[in-house]
Amino acid sequence: MAVPTGEQGLTAELVYIGKGLPADYGQADVQGKIVLMDGLAVPRAVKTAGEHGAAGALFINAKYTHEMIVSPVWGNPTPETVNLLPKIPVVSVNHADGQLIKSSFENGAKVSAFIQTEVDTGWRKIPTLVAEIKGSLEPDTFVMFSGHIDSWHYGVMDNGTANATMMEVGRILSKHRDKLRRTLRLAFWSGHSHGRYAGSAWYCDTHWEDLYENCVMHINVDSVGGQGNDVLTEGSSMVEMVDLGAGPIAAIANQQFTGSRFSRAGDQSFLGTGTPSLFMGLSEREPSQEPASQAFSLLFGGGRAGGFGWWWHTTEDTIDKIDPANLVRDCKIYVSTVYQACSNAVLPINQAAAVQEIKGYLTTYQQQAGERLDLSKAIMRLTDLDTKVSRAQALIQNASFSETQISMINERLMELSRLLVPLNYVRGSIFDHDLALKAVPIPALAEIDQLSRSEIGSDSYYQLRTLLGRRLNQINYTLLEANREAEQLLEIITE
Ligand SMILES: [Zn+2]
Repeated sequence: MAVPTGEQGLTAELVYIGKGLPADYGQADVQGKIVLMDGLAVPRAVKTAGEHGAAGALFINAKYTHEMIVSPVWGNPTPETVNLLPKIPVVSVNHADGQLIKSSFENGAKVSAFIQTEVDTGWRKIPTLVAEIKGSLEPDTFVMFSGHIDSWHYGVMDNGTANATMMEVGRILSKHRDKLRRTLRLAFWSGHSHGRYAGSAWYCDTHWEDLYENCVMHINVDSVGGQGNDVLTEGSSMVEMVDLGAGPIAAIANQQFTGSRFSRAGDQSFLGTGTPSLFMGLSEREPSQEPASQAFSLLFGGGRAGGFGWWWHTTEDTIDKIDPANLVRDCKIYVSTVYQACSNAVLPINQAAAVQEIKGYLTTYQQQAGERLDLSKAIMRLTDLDTKVSRAQALIQNASFSETQISMINERLMELSRLLVPLNYVRGSIFDHDLALKAVPIPALAEIDQLSRSEIGSDSYYQLRTLLGRRLNQINYTLLEANREAEQLLEIITE
């Protein structure tokens, strides 16, 4: 959320700044002015406007205005992050009104704009609903199946259909509770939009140890059953979870799920706890040139799908946008996925895929850094780890184990996730939450990009090498521990 203007509003000169990318500002003087931009109101654009001294921001959306969140602070602010909350008022208008505003610039006229915003920001109690169906063999461990319950306007698709899916999954699995090896924990978050994931972040902060020790995976559901939402190949997934999602999607929708890397969004508050994660949205539209679709695909995932529909986050998210057949299809996929997650003897986590993905990123970073940074120790450890984990997975497929062995195998698989998920996705402390801003893979090494462009021998070169050397110690040691876990895993399997 942005800031309120008060009764008097804000009157200032309006400056059109294209898409509001840093490059779009060029020589424009926007100090104390209101910047007018095309696109959805996203944190990056508001941050850039603030950095250039703008006094307000006005976004021109699509046919309808889309409600958005412009704060990069994940969950409750702390003394370290409170200053990152947006400091300027932000409003959005629809495309038609935007064209009208733009037309007032004709003949180079200076345009003055008046905006007034009402925003209520403060500390509030918000509800978190949690329900459990206890597993029979490993009841202390649990699969967390979550979705947000707060919505914009009617919010039938986002997130009414997802809430219904969670209840249906709970209803069906409760009839088969004797077959659930581990516990199913359903969690309905508030604060998804109005608190920037405040509900899930609070839950993580409050139950950190339980999540770290016992949560085997997080499955999320958002905006299912939309009309025309027939692309089921691109949903968010950690690479180690793709196989789990791919089975039900192939069986029920006859599509080959490849998944997209999670962006920093969608109540993914459980990366620090090293929790493998599957799905946010499941079914989307074909990519299109429609502005809402373009913006959406850049916000989430790899930009290969077209989002949830033009009605997403507007007043038009009503029941006529839901296709009952699609909702049944999506719900079946969730029932099957969650059931397998709760009942498979050995945890369906493809750790070899995670190791190979991380190795791929590090290899690319090594090429980028060249002689400036030596990543060879990390890459060597990943090669060793890949050999061990791949061998373990092949052995697991072709053998049967005692109950004790299965529990021990699962513990080692979870330990591997506790090491690999933060390595792949977390920049700061595992007890903290990174900002809701775009992050590169293995975010602890984000500065490799700057290092590769720095002049060898310059101050910034030495500073970046010092920083990255420390970060590399963290990565190398994590991989040493992961190799030890993989050795123990092999010992259990080959006993
Ligand atoms: Zn949603």
